[in-house]
Amino acid sequence: MITGSCLCGALAYEVDGPFDLLAHCHCSMCRKHHGAPFATFVGAPASGFRWLRGEPVAYRSSLASVRHHCATCGAKSPAASAKGTAVFLPAGNLPGDLPGVDALGMHIYVGSKAPWHVIADALPQHETLPPGWPVPEVDRPVPPALDGATHGSCLCGGVRFRVTGKPARWMQCHCSRCRRGRSAAHGSNTFYPVAQFAWLAGQELVRTYKVPDAQRFVVSFCERCGGGAPSQREGVPFVLVPAALLDTDPGTRPEAHIHVASKASWFTIAGDLPQHAELPPA
Ligand SMILES: [Zn+2]
Ligand SMILES: [Zn+2]
Ligand SMILES: [Zn+2]
Repeated sequence: MITGSCLCGALAYEVDGPFDLLAHCHCSMCRKHHGAPFATFVGAPASGFRWLRGEPVAYRSSLASVRHHCATCGAKSPAASAKGTAVFLPAGNLPGDLPGVDALGMHIYVGSKAPWHVIADALPQHETLPPGWPVPEVDRPVPPALDGATHGSCLCGGVRFRVTGKPARWMQCHCSRCRRGRSAAHGSNTFYPVAQFAWLAGQELVRTYKVPDAQRFVVSFCERCGGGAPSQREGVPFVLVPAALLDTDPGTRPEAHIHVASKASWFTIAGDLPQHAELPPA
């Protein structure tokens, strides 16, 4: 039996398994909802799933799908399959060590992946869904770039912003807080100087959750859709923008993997980006 929980702990559940699926989904809806380069779901029979506490907020992202998140920390919560026989659990909210699950891995909706994200591992890749899967996901329309800036938005489009130029830093972060807060294998965090960032709409929809025992760690999300949102804080010279929120290609690329010592057992880091056990050298 495995226990899962959101970042703040308000939502918790347990699942018996056996786990029969590990899907890394690159669809634009998952990327916006999680604020991560892709979402990862572990599948198990619904009969072995039980809520322990909390009730997530629901947001209907398309005719075919309702997505759920924690009202306090924005972490994403499990969803039932269309027939109700299976449950799909965001892997980032399960223990980081899930023996054997990595062997089930596959990439889905690779045709929709972020232009700046490189899939470097050797897992099977599906353009959309594997043959025989019942419910097609619907991609989110990509808003046009308007003025030469890079625009960004949450899943529902209520939160909108623009950035100009290049971010000061761009890190693929594998720390346990990013994994639980984004409900994903890792975060992909850009840091834009405040002068290069502007809100366009929906700043009042942004909720920010600070981990009580963390010095600085915060995660921001749209209270309506649960989608990722930028974190701008008083006195901090950079705005943290999850790269998954960018609607157009910013032209730059992630520079390194950080907190690799904390990464999930079910995710293999491949490719040639530098890897740092914790933070990068100053
Ligand atoms: Zn929570
Ligand atoms: Zn998806
Ligand atoms: Zn939203």
